[in-house]
Amino acid sequence: MGRYVMLGMPGAGKGTQSRKLSQEMEIPHISTGDMFREAVKSGSPLGIRAREIMTAGELVPDEIVLEIVKERLSRPDVSRGYILDGFPRTVSQARELDSFQAPDAVIYLALSQEEAARRLEGRRSCGKCGAQLNIYLQESAEDSCPKCGGELVRREDDTPETVRVRIETYIRQTKPLTEYYREKGLLREIDGARGIGSVFENIIRSVKK
Ligand code: AMP
Repeated sequence: MGRYVMLGMPGAGKGTQSRKLSQEMEIPHISTGDMFREAVKSGSPLGIRAREIMTAGELVPDEIVLEIVKERLSRPDVSRGYILDGFPRTVSQARELDSFQAPDAVIYLALSQEEAARRLEGRRSCGKCGAQLNIYLQESAEDSCPKCGGELVRREDDTPETVRVRIETYIRQTKPLTEYYREKGLLREIDGARGIGSVFENIIRSVKK
């Protein structure tokens, strides 16, 4: 049980840690980025618009994001809580969230800009089974998926130019949320530069406090 927001730079490990926490706590993992990528795949009008914004490294307008998040948070499985990954991303999104389902804690995965850019550069997913990995951490994975042998693909917005803009967008629009939540006493800062297992242990420790 619990309502958690996962905050941090692109590449800080929000998706990886959210999936683990979701399994451990049996509460839904809600990723706005995944929702937009689904919309892109489906070719819907929202997807067509979102794709352009995402490949530019910018943010989808608040009113669109809020509509899909509010709909998702009104479903019954959220009665146990939520892990929000990639939302809120602006102070106005955070205020909106506070007005309908405020979080209990905000897990902030701190990481340097250089390390974030390096991780995004090496990030791949398997086109066949969907496994997520990093070719810098799993060298055996350079050519194909170590789980199923499928072809590895890069996210369309993980190219060097888009990564640069996404990090700038984060610093300008999302980083101020650390102060917003710190003032409310909700921020749990975790060193995101450690390995996946160690970061996860620290998250569990900090939310149990
Ligand atoms: P992510 O997978 O969280 O890195 O999100 C990928 C892209 O989706 C972002 O670069 C934005 O363009 C868009 N996006 C995801 N979540 C939000 C949000 N809360 N507000 C605005 N845009 C978002």
